[in-house]
Amino acid sequence: MATKETAPVRGETKRFLVECDGCSYERSAEGRDEAMRIGTDHRLETGHEPVAVELPPPTENA
Ligand SMILES: [Zn+2]
Repeated sequence: MATKETAPVRGETKRFLVECDGCSYERSAEGRDEAMRIGTDHRLETGHEPVAVELPPPTENA
């Protein structure tokens, strides 16, 4: 699951919210890679199964 891509994904960076089913862990991330990294970290640390939920762009509420 480890990826070392540094090239930006085409288009804008998507934002994700990494949530955990097994506890109240919740963390926002920019880009899928970071979301996956955060989720993997948490899974390795706790054995939980977090999920990354894509957040809508923040421009609408501004
Ligand atoms: Zn957890």
